[in-house]
Amino acid sequence: METITFDQLSLSDELMQAIGDSGYTAPSPIQAQAIPAILAGHDIIGQAQTGTGKTAAFGIPLLEAIDASDKHVQAIVMCPTRELALQVCTELRKLAKYKKGLFLLPVYGGESIENQIKDIKRGVSVIVGTPGRIIDHLNRKTLKLDKVKMVVLDEADEMLNMGFVEDIETILSHMPKERQTVFFSATMPKPILELTKRYQTNPKIVKIEKTSLTVSNIEQFYYEVRSGEKMEYVLRILEINNFKLALVFSNTKRMVDEIVEKLNVQGHKALGIHGDLSQSQRNNVMRKFRAGDVKVLVATDVAARGIDVDDVDAVINYDLPMDDEYYVHRIGRTGRAGREGKSFTLVASREMRSLRDLMHYTKANIAKGEMPSGKELAKLKLKKLQDKLTQIIESSDLKKHLWMIEEWELEGLDMKPLMAALLKLQVGDLSERKEERKDRDKDRDREPKDRFDRNSKNDKGKDRDRRDSDKPKRRDRKSSGNMVRLFINLGKNHKVRTGDILGSITANSGLNGNDIGEIDVRDKFSYVEVPADEVNNVLGAMMGNQIKGKEVNIEVAK
Ligand code: AMP
Repeated sequence: METITFDQLSLSDELMQAIGDSGYTAPSPIQAQAIPAILAGHDIIGQAQTGTGKTAAFGIPLLEAIDASDKHVQAIVMCPTRELALQVCTELRKLAKYKKGLFLLPVYGGESIENQIKDIKRGVSVIVGTPGRIIDHLNRKTLKLDKVKMVVLDEADEMLNMGFVEDIETILSHMPKERQTVFFSATMPKPILELTKRYQTNPKIVKIEKTSLTVSNIEQFYYEVRSGEKMEYVLRILEINNFKLALVFSNTKRMVDEIVEKLNVQGHKALGIHGDLSQSQRNNVMRKFRAGDVKVLVATDVAARGIDVDDVDAVINYDLPMDDEYYVHRIGRTGRAGREGKSFTLVASREMRSLRDLMHYTKANIAKGEMPSGKELAKLKLKKLQDKLTQIIESSDLKKHLWMIEEWELEGLDMKPLMAALLKLQVGDLSERKEERKDRDKDRDREPKDRFDRNSKNDKGKDRDRRDSDKPKRRDRKSSGNMVRLFINLGKNHKVRTGDILGSITANSGLNGNDIGEIDVRDKFSYVEVPADEVNNVLGAMMGNQIKGKEVNIEVAK
C-alpha cells in the first residue's frame, strides 16, 4: 500500500484546503503516482477505472497548472459522455473552489450552444466536454484552443469505442504542440497505444499492480444498495450477525464520523479512527476496541494500517475501496490467526462494473448477499431478546426486580401493556425502519377503518384522513412537540413523494417515522417537520444525499 500523504505532494494552499474539505485522507494509489508525474510536466498514460480516484489524479495537477488571472482556455478534458463530463466538471469545481477567478465549463450536446458561447466569452480557464460539442464550437470559431497547456482524454478507450477518434484528432490539431497530453483509460487496446505514440512525448505509464486474494477462510458478500440505504444495511448486518468485533471501512474522514454517530444513535458502541486523531487518541481507540468496550470500529484505509486485532469477526465496506489492493487489506483484518471471518461490501448500482473488475483482478469470490426482510429481522431481534431474557432469568438474582413488579401490580398496573412498552424500548426502533413501515402501511391499507376511527371525530374528518393516510398522525405530533420546518429543494416535479422523504430521513438520520411531523410535498420543493433538537442531525444526515437520483439541498424553512 502507498504511504505517501497529500502534504508530500507540494500542492498549493488552495488545493490542499479543497482536498481537506473533501475529507480525503491520503492520495489513492493512482493519485500517488500520477500527481507527481503530471506536476513534473510529463505526458502520462494512466490505466485506471472509475472509482480509483482518477479524476482527482489528473484534476489536481491540472488545476495547479492554471493561471486563474489568464482568461484563455488553458486546459481541456475530453470525456465520452455528457454524464461523465458533468461528473468530472463537478469534481474539478470542488477542487478548484479556493482558486478564485478560475472558471470551469462543461460543454456537451443537448444543452443550448448559445448559453455555452456566452459563458466562454466571459472567460473560461478549463473546458470539460464531449468531442462532438467541442468540434461544434471549433467550427463556429467560438472556442479557441491555441493557449491550451494541458489536454486530458478521460476514458479514452470508451471514446474510441464510440467512434470519436477523428474528432479527437481534429481537436488536438487546434492546440499548440508544446503542451502536456494525459491519457486515462481503463484498458489499453492497440488503437489507444497508437494514438499515444502520435500525440505524446515519452509518456510515463502509471498503473496499479493487482494482487490476488488468498483468503479462503473469509466468506465474502456484497449488497447492491441505493446510496441512502447504506446505513440501514450496516445496521442490519450488525443486528443479524451478533459479531463480537466488527470493522467498518469508509473512504473519507467525514463519512467515518457520520457512521460512528449514526451507529451510536442506534445503540451500537462504535468509535472512529482516521488521520485527524493524534497518536494517543488512536491508541486509546484501539485499546477500547481490543478490550471489546467498543464493538464496532469505523476506519479509513490509511488509519487502518495499525489495526492488529485478531478476533475481528467481520469487515463491512461502507464504500467500495479506492483500489483493489485496499480491498485485500481491508478484508484481511478478519479471519486472522486461523479464525473464520466474513466481509460485506455495499455497492451502488453504478459501481457494479467496478465490483466486477475487483472480483476479476483479486480473483475474489464475492457472493450476492440476501438481506432478511423487515419482518424476518424483527423476528430475529425478538428471538435474540427472548434468549437473553431466558439467560438472565436463569443466571441472575431477580428478587428485587420481582418486588418492584409486585408493587406495580398492587398499584393496579396492567402487566401486558407494561411488557409491551418494555419490548418497544428494545425493538421499537427496528419496527420503524423502511420495510416494516411498508408492511405496516400495507396492513393499514387493508384495514383503514380500524386505524382512522380512533383519530377522527366525525365521518367528514375520516374521509379526509383516508385520502392521505400519513397525515392525521403527523398533525397530532406537530401540535404536541416542538417541531421545526425544514425546506427541501425537491418536490412532485422531481417525482418525489412523502414516502421518499420519510424513508430517506429515517434511513439516514436514525430518527423513527414517528418522530417526523408533517411532510408537505409541493411541485418544486417540499417541507418536512422534525423535532427541534434533531434539526442539526437531520441537516447533517441529509445534505448532499440523493432522493430519486436528485441531490438534496435542505435547510431550515424561512
Ligand atoms: P473517480 O475514480 O475519479 O470516479 O473517483 C471515485 C470517488 O472517489 C469520487 O467520489 C471521489 O470524490 C473519491 N475520491 C477521489 N480521491 C479520493 C481520495 N484520495 N480519498 C478518498 N476518496 C477519493
